[in-house]
Amino acid sequence: MSMRLDKYLASAGLGSRTDVKVLLKKGRVTVDGLVQKDGKFQVDKNSDEIKFDGQGLNYQKFFYYMLNKPAGVVSATRDNLDKTVVQLLSESNFRKDIFPVGRLDKNTEGLLILTNDGVLGHNLTQPKKHVEKEYFAHIDGRVTDKMIVIFKEGLMLKNGEVALPAELFIDKIYENSKTQLGVASDIHVIIHEGKFHQVKRMFEAVDMYVLYLKRIRMGKLKLDKRLALGEYRSLTDEEVLLLK
Ligand code: URA
Repeated sequence: MSMRLDKYLASAGLGSRTDVKVLLKKGRVTVDGLVQKDGKFQVDKNSDEIKFDGQGLNYQKFFYYMLNKPAGVVSATRDNLDKTVVQLLSESNFRKDIFPVGRLDKNTEGLLILTNDGVLGHNLTQPKKHVEKEYFAHIDGRVTDKMIVIFKEGLMLKNGEVALPAELFIDKIYENSKTQLGVASDIHVIIHEGKFHQVKRMFEAVDMYVLYLKRIRMGKLKLDKRLALGEYRSLTDEEVLLLK
């Protein structure tokens, strides 16, 4: 299958299309032994021998990143007002076809997968696949054992929608917190669907307020604790397989 040389080179990890243009201009790329400076030149990755500085290249079709999303950026590819998660990628990793898999609210932190693999993205977000998502949250007020049971049974949200059963775990109660209710709770919750504002609305349904929310797992993939907020890394082949 033929494709533009600049697209091929960007996919082979030589940088953005702009970076690639510069490299091409410098005559550092050869196709079947001849210097090729035109990014629009059509190549066939299966039959053409494409080299950079005399070295063969590794074409990569799909890219997978794990981002530790900070608050304040939106889970979108473009936005008129806010910075997007895709804009957190460095120029050399940025590609127009990369998108976030599912959404986290603007003020939610944590694990977000960025990829250009549409099939994987679709499979992970399709409601009927019920991919597990695990969150850590800090809640204003005292989360009780009764709420664990309510979450386990599935509960009705304030707008009448029903949330599927979820597993709630109480990690810690802060008896004298500075929050509005004077008591606060750290919890973990595992949900099996991805309704809009789901975790916040589940707590709202039991008259509690989520002060802080972070996703720590999606399916079998856990957020890498070494990633600071705003940092990302490529997924390993094994991690990509965990998502399939
Ligand atoms: N639930 C929410 O309320 N917000 C998120 O960002 C993710 C899950």
